[in-house]
Amino acid sequence: MRSQTLWRSFGLLQRQYISSRRIINHRAIQTASSRPVPNFAFAFDIDGVLLRASKPIPGAADSLALLKEQGIPFLLLTNGGGKHETERVAEISEKLGIPLDATDIVQSHSPFAELVKGWDESSALEHKCVLVAGGDGDNCRRVAEQYGFKNVVTPADILMANPAVWPFSKNFSDYYKTFARPLPSPIDLNDPSKSLKIDAVFVFNDPRDWALDTQVIMDLLLSSQGRMGTLSEKNGQIDLPNHGYQQDGQPRLYFSNPDLWWAAAYPLPRLGQGGFREALEGIWAATTGGPRKGIELKKTVIGKPYQPTYEFAERQLLRNRLRTFGSPAEHTPLERVYMVGDNPESDIRGANSYRSEIGSSWHSILVRTGVYSGGEPAWIPHTIADNVHKGVQWALKSSNWPAA
Ligand SMILES: [Mg+2]
Repeated sequence: MRSQTLWRSFGLLQRQYISSRRIINHRAIQTASSRPVPNFAFAFDIDGVLLRASKPIPGAADSLALLKEQGIPFLLLTNGGGKHETERVAEISEKLGIPLDATDIVQSHSPFAELVKGWDESSALEHKCVLVAGGDGDNCRRVAEQYGFKNVVTPADILMANPAVWPFSKNFSDYYKTFARPLPSPIDLNDPSKSLKIDAVFVFNDPRDWALDTQVIMDLLLSSQGRMGTLSEKNGQIDLPNHGYQQDGQPRLYFSNPDLWWAAAYPLPRLGQGGFREALEGIWAATTGGPRKGIELKKTVIGKPYQPTYEFAERQLLRNRLRTFGSPAEHTPLERVYMVGDNPESDIRGANSYRSEIGSSWHSILVRTGVYSGGEPAWIPHTIADNVHKGVQWALKSSNWPAA
């Protein structure tokens, strides 16, 4: 899939590191300021590792403070989202009492920022019209705009402009009218060639109104060229690939978070964005014939445990290292990243499965302070630690770091 190529196409730094790795292969070198550049870094999940029910987990703040003091790069890598990175790190900084920058966090939707410029001018979505679904109000639209998307529409905009699109959401119009904006072009049922055209669909965060979002996304997936109010004539043509479905210039569909369930205040897990995707897949299959007829729903899913998210996180670590250490960072390859997480299915599976283009190896550390409750985990980590503090100590020792 071309979009998968995209995630790999931002490899300038990676290639630089691959070549430097051939030349220099020792643990660390001394910078002009005598500060060693570590050949390792950390990625921390947040919920169940650093915070639990929004409260700091003992040892978490001290561990991050130690890494900061030692100049060891780290990132927070979460499947959460719905707010801009700046806003999210400000909250976490305050809870942990550690200064953090927006570049210190990768949220589920952070990699979408790379699609603003795309891999070339023709693939750039900056000036295209994109649909952003999910999240409270239009917070995610505003996040997308901060990433650089210039033309962002929400399902609420479509509903308020044309309530007949989904009549059952009219009960929620008091909510929608607080943030809906006029459409950049109308839904023109008389002249569909002039109707609102959507070029990409992003599920940024968990949809709040599954029914409206499902209806609008289905409309676009079945449309011709992503124009609202149209229906592609190619749909169902068995001589075409995928029986003609998604073969007529429909928008690409992106999901930011695969989690089927997540832990909230209720004692039992709650359905996550993965639940919404499964529901949409079910409707897609019922409408098109689905896998029974060899028809798939073409989409890109990012977020832990998937490769594109780890690739993005690694690029972010490289960028941060370069900013912190300057050119000496180019001569010390990033050889190892310790992923500290509480969820075997996402954190550990993702780290274990990740294949780095720069040849780094991701070592997974499973902690006992979150969803993992003991026994043999579904994905076996490099080590199991009681908490993040012990995990960090184990990692520092593994990398022969003197502070351990
Ligand atoms: Mg977690």
